[in-house]
Amino acid sequence: MSSVRKPLVIGNWKMNGLVAASGALTRELGETLRTPEMCEVVLCPPFTALQQVGQLLTGLKIRLGAQNGFPADKGAFTGEVSMAMLRDIGCDYVLVGHSERRQHLSEGDGFVARKVVAAVSHDLTPVLCVGESGEVRAAGESESFVLGQVERGLSMLPVGASFVLAYEPVWAIGTGLAATARDANAMLAAVREWLCEKRGIPRDTFRLLYGGSVGPENIADFTAQNEIDGALVGGASLNAQAFAAVVLGAARGYLCTNK
Ligand code: PEP
Repeated sequence: MSSVRKPLVIGNWKMNGLVAASGALTRELGETLRTPEMCEVVLCPPFTALQQVGQLLTGLKIRLGAQNGFPADKGAFTGEVSMAMLRDIGCDYVLVGHSERRQHLSEGDGFVARKVVAAVSHDLTPVLCVGESGEVRAAGESESFVLGQVERGLSMLPVGASFVLAYEPVWAIGTGLAATARDANAMLAAVREWLCEKRGIPRDTFRLLYGGSVGPENIADFTAQNEIDGALVGGASLNAQAFAAVVLGAARGYLCTNK
């Protein structure tokens, strides 16, 4: 099977941006990024801006993603948005299991696993987010913790389904304290090995991202690593110039490797 490991940069705008501001940011990005041939780019605006951002992306080589989706297709789930609805509005990707949802909304691995399956069944690529807290890291248990999240989160993934996995140590998100490229690479090497060995997934048929305080100054260090195929970017994705620089840097770092 051929490699899918073109670099991927996903901007997670989180709960930021009214419709007008989201439109302005998308327009500015469209002008600044031009055609990012070397790198696939995805924007994940808030739900309320998905439609507008999707329309503005028409004709640009930037894809639309959602920050979350519910596992059931429809029904009495007040306030939720289904994967079918996300596909209907033009999303190609959906974040699943982001640590902020695990922390603030108590989402567990079983629920996350159901979201992965629901996303795939609606032709969305799930981006499964995993990562250890500062306490787990201090206890020296990062790898076993993360591999456990990977195992449970992907436990129902259909054979041959596309997915992306983002390693985002909780202590690195929004803190300015990124993991070192070496440490992130070591974690993702363990994840890739596990997926190949235990799940029999061919090694170059899925992408592994790093997330946590990524910006223009450090992105190339990450994508220059053999196991890191791109980044999930929060804060720096809210500024068009910074995000465009991250995308360029991701492509530059990737060129140093033979992935
Ligand atoms: C994120 O929210 O997924 C993230 C990585 O945020 P930041 O880049 O701001 O650390």
